[in-house]
Amino acid sequence: MHSWSLALAFGLFSGVYAHVVAPRDPQSSTAASINVPTYASIDAASALGAKIGPSGYYTEDFGGGAYMVTDGSYQSLVLVSNDGVIVVDAPPSIGHKLLYAIGNITNASVTHLVYTHNHADHIGGAAIFDPAVEIVAHYETAQLLAQVNDTNRPPPTQTFHTSHTIGCGNQTLRLEYKGDNHIRGNIFVYAPKQKVLMLVDVIFPGWVPFSQLGEAKNVPGFILAHDQVLAYDFKHFVGGHLERSGNRQDVLVQKEFMNDLFTNCKYAIDQSATNNPILGAGPLLAAVSGKDSGNPWALFKVYLDLVVGYCSNTTNEKWLNRLAGADIFDTDNAMTMIESLRIDYGVLGPFQLQ
Ligand SMILES: [Zn+2]
Repeated sequence: MHSWSLALAFGLFSGVYAHVVAPRDPQSSTAASINVPTYASIDAASALGAKIGPSGYYTEDFGGGAYMVTDGSYQSLVLVSNDGVIVVDAPPSIGHKLLYAIGNITNASVTHLVYTHNHADHIGGAAIFDPAVEIVAHYETAQLLAQVNDTNRPPPTQTFHTSHTIGCGNQTLRLEYKGDNHIRGNIFVYAPKQKVLMLVDVIFPGWVPFSQLGEAKNVPGFILAHDQVLAYDFKHFVGGHLERSGNRQDVLVQKEFMNDLFTNCKYAIDQSATNNPILGAGPLLAAVSGKDSGNPWALFKVYLDLVVGYCSNTTNEKWLNRLAGADIFDTDNAMTMIESLRIDYGVLGPFQLQ
């Protein structure tokens, strides 16, 4: 039996035939009582980078004054010139260790801080820098930051719409905006001399994307960004997450993963509108309507579990041994793709125009 048929059976019996109506007890789930799952082991060679030492961070030298600083979960880019230092992103998890890392590279002062996008987990450490440091970000990032007034993320002192070049001593850093993807305002950061490209929360070298396709707010833009990355001439890729930097091959591999996820999810939705014995949703929707009549949320929950379960398990059959974390965020990523196919791409299956 395929594992997705198990998911279907689970959906049928727990979602349709069982009555779980009691409100959840807030005391019933505590950190101590959670049953921690055992996931597939991680292949160190493809998924991990240099071991983080006792300092809590690792500095990867790209040459030509460009460095990546990582704590194993988050990454910053540092570009050292003969007239100051440009830093891209200041994750709070790296925090003050970023200052130590820079101090171990150069005596020069930080003159520029670039925000790749507005998210606190990537720039919430910005307050470690001198207030005189110039902060550069996209116009949309400034707008999003102004909505929340977080003192850990000071407003940019300089914004741009399409592109902006930071010239600092003997170094150049190009900032380019190609539209909404992970979040509006998320920019491509390119050091042409060192051929280093940074785009955060889109490509995850060696790993499947984080939950919900890296929390993508615009899935078509997220998918498009793979080709936009490949249009650059780069040797080193900084994705903002995990332990190692990436390269062109990592981007090609994730593009293949995304193509598979898209194809499998689209197949599931298309087949759900047919008499396919596994995916045809007719009998299932009729059963929900009979059991939970007048409850469209129940209808959608059971339907989504059916197509997400198929898409997730079919994708994992190929990717479980190719990318780390495939069994962790499988249903989260499949759900995000299914919902995007439905509402962004208009692939509505049984809910299409009648
Ligand atoms: Zn983000």
